[in-house]
Amino acid sequence: MARIDATLRDARQRIDSADAEVLLAHALGRSRAWLYAHADDELDDDALQRFRGWLARRQAGEPVAYLIGHRGFWRFDLKVSPATLIPRADTECLVELALARLSTDTPTRVLDLGTGSGAIALSIATERPAARVLATDASGDALSVARANAKALGVANVAFRQGDWLCAVAGGRFDLIASNPPYIADGDAHLVQGDLRHEPRSALASGVDGLDAIRTISRDAPAFLEPGGWLLIEHGWEQGEAVRSLLTGAGLVDVHTAQDLEQRDRVTLGRRPG
Ligand code: GLN
Repeated sequence: MARIDATLRDARQRIDSADAEVLLAHALGRSRAWLYAHADDELDDDALQRFRGWLARRQAGEPVAYLIGHRGFWRFDLKVSPATLIPRADTECLVELALARLSTDTPTRVLDLGTGSGAIALSIATERPAARVLATDASGDALSVARANAKALGVANVAFRQGDWLCAVAGGRFDLIASNPPYIADGDAHLVQGDLRHEPRSALASGVDGLDAIRTISRDAPAFLEPGGWLLIEHGWEQGEAVRSLLTGAGLVDVHTAQDLEQRDRVTLGRRPG
């Protein structure tokens, strides 16, 4: 037996304080706020064992989101697994840019390439109930997670298809195509550090300059856009210029880059003329 406050104090010496609270709350099936109100309660042995297991794994570098199996994004708590990238707050910027370009009442068609846990597709689908959203991923395991999220959230206007980028799309035209593709350079040292080590390499890295997937998407996506339809691509903070030139080279207009919350280049977008 151990008290909640003593257990947390000990854990905070070993891992980040917020992570310690999230893991202990999860071990107890409670909220973080509950921990504060019950600081002098005793932990039962089962909860303590669960917590100690996660604490050791977190200390060895496993991301908290994989240990507890979910991560907050937009208005949801999304299920994640090691088959999916862990959704980032950066990607909420892409969702906002997409929503600003989608009518609230007319039926639109939206494509999310490389959906992972379904973060982008599900956010757009819930905010635009009249839209029909298609979400693709090369990984069947990722699509199972995305489908489970759609089901848990009761989102019916999303369909899923497996395949590489535009190869997954049989045909048709979209009013908006969005993607958070892999964009880190294969040799980037971050890939072998911290939480990134545990995320799927195929969702993170893409060729010597990190731009392979973005080159494929820029080349192939415009043919699937309605005239006037938008392509939005998330990318690394040093890739804005390269992605703008890819989208311009692919014949898109109004090409520009938007910044994330830290004022760094994050999403480049362009429109099919028409
Ligand atoms: N933004 C992520 C990171 O640098 C990478 C996500 C991605 O490759 N799409 O940690």
